[in-house]
Order: sequence, then C-alpha cells, then structure tokens
Amino acid sequence: MLAMRFETAVQEVISRAYDVKSFRFPRPEGFTYEAGQFIMVTIRSGDNKLTKPLSISSSPTEKDHIEFTKKLTGHEFSNVLEALGIGGWAEINGPYGTFTLEGESDRLCMLSGGVGITPLRSICKYCMDTKSDVNIVLIFGNRSETNIVFGEDFEQMQGQNRNLRVILTLDEPSEDWRGETGIIDTDMIKMNVPDYFDRKFYICGPPGMVQAIASLLKSLNLPTNQIKIENFAGY
Ligand SMILES: Cc1cc2nc3c(=O)[nH]c(=O)nc-3n(C[C@H](O)[C@H](O)[C@H](O)COP(=O)(O)OP(=O)(O)OC[C@H]3O[C@@H](n4cnc5c(N)ncnc54)[C@H](O)[C@@H]3O)c2cc1C
Repeated sequence: MLAMRFETAVQEVISRAYDVKSFRFPRPEGFTYEAGQFIMVTIRSGDNKLTKPLSISSSPTEKDHIEFTKKLTGHEFSNVLEALGIGGWAEINGPYGTFTLEGESDRLCMLSGGVGITPLRSICKYCMDTKSDVNIVLIFGNRSETNIVFGEDFEQMQGQNRNLRVILTLDEPSEDWRGETGIIDTDMIKMNVPDYFDRKFYICGPPGMVQAIASLLKSLNLPTNQIKIENFAGY
C-alpha cells in the first residue's frame, strides 16, 4: 500500500475504557491500508507539532472512517489529543507496517494485553466482515473488567462467527469474574489452544509484555517464522 499524507479533522471520539479513547476521521478517497497496519499521527501543541505511531483499530472493510485508539497516559501527546475534540486538526501519514495477514495461515493465535489489542481488533474485524475462513483464538489479558478495550465489540464478533474464540484473562478480577485469571503463560496456551503448534502467532502490546510472551513461545519451541510481533515501544 502506498503511504499518503493528509490533513484531517476529528469526526468522532469514542470512550473504550476509563483511560482509552478511539478517534475517528473521515476516510479520504484513495486511502487504502491492510488490517494491522499503523499510521503516523501529528497534532499541534501551541507552535509545536507532536507525532506518534498509532495502529489503525478500524478495518479496511469500514469504508466511512479510519480510527486509532489511544491509551491516555497523562503525558503530553495524550493530553493534547484528549483536548482536541470534534473538528480538531490532525495530520495522518501512512499506512506503514507488516503486522498483517499473510495468506498462508488459516489458523492464528493472537496474544495481547491492554491497548495492544488495537491492530488485532482491525484484523479480527476484517476477517469477520469478509467471512474469511481464518480461524482465530485470541487470548487477551487486562488488569480488570474496566480495562477491557473493545470488550463488547469482540463479544459481538464472537457471537456472529464460529471462527473466532476470545479468551479474556484478568490480573485483578472482581468476585463475579468467570473467565481466566493471571498473566498469559504456557499452561494457559496449552489448555486453551491445544493445536497451538500448528498456528501462526500474532503478539502485540507494550515492550515488557511482548518480550515476556516471546520468551514464553520460545520455551514452547515455536519456530520464529511462526511468530509475528508488533511492539508498542516508546517513540
Ligand atoms: C507501531 C506502533 C503502534 C502503536 N500503536 C499504539 C496504539 O494503537 N495505541 C496506543 O495507545 N499506543 C500505541 N503505540 C505507542 C504510542 O506511539 C506512544 O508511544 C504511547 O502511547 C505513549 O504515548 P504518550 O501519550 O504517553 O506519549 P508522550 O506524551 O510522548 O509520552 C511518552 C513518554 O515520554 C515521557 N514524557 C513525556 N512527557 C514528559 C515530560 N513532560 N517529562 C518527562 N517525561 C515525559 C514519559 O516517560 C512518557 O511515558 C504504538 C507504538 C508503535 C511503535
């Protein structure tokens, strides 16, 4: 996909969790991307411009808008973004990245934590909308129920398609929680994904989590060419 640079304005802001929001923009004619790619987003802070890489959380099948979803950290970029509001100016440059479907695998296992879910939401939504035969098991870790980004979205997608199974795991669950608990480990993978050795793995999250999962998969003897990683390393 050829990268394109364009100025735009915020169309809609959607709250996803107490510290995570999605920002939607009209999708300009000619802007194409693959599910899982990211864009460079520039916003204005006084006379300065701030730029961050952000995964596209919408799917190419969603024709009317493009969306990214940002964890609001209380730092400068987050604060300026949060203050933008509808109509706020932004410049988008992209798409970039190769954290995308490759066609040769019809069984995937996705492992993610927190806001690292954004490119995986794009890929899952794309597979659902295109009624693809790709079978996906997603294990998604979060601190508590209130941190689950796109929870309803995944529930809906899972209800509509037998090819998607979502396993949620929480570090600090409430008493009513019936899902998995604790961080993603080898036992959790073996139990929930018995055919894990035949699946392509997609991992996305902050550097610490990505590193921990990569070494975990090494201990399962998964070949590195069976693992795709998107690292939200600081920028
Ligand atoms: C390919 C890719 C895709 C990504 N996709 C996403 C995504 O979909 N969603 C998402 O939320 N993130 C994503 N990220 C991460 C994102 O680009 C940001 O790096 C991250 O969210 C931090 O943003 P921030 O608002 O805290 O940035 P900043 O305001 O720049 O803060 C970043 C860090 O700089 C330091 N800092 C900032 N201001 C100060 C200050 N005044 N004094 C001291 N220290 C300071 C802090 O240590 C802070 O943690 C992605 C990263 C990559 C590489």
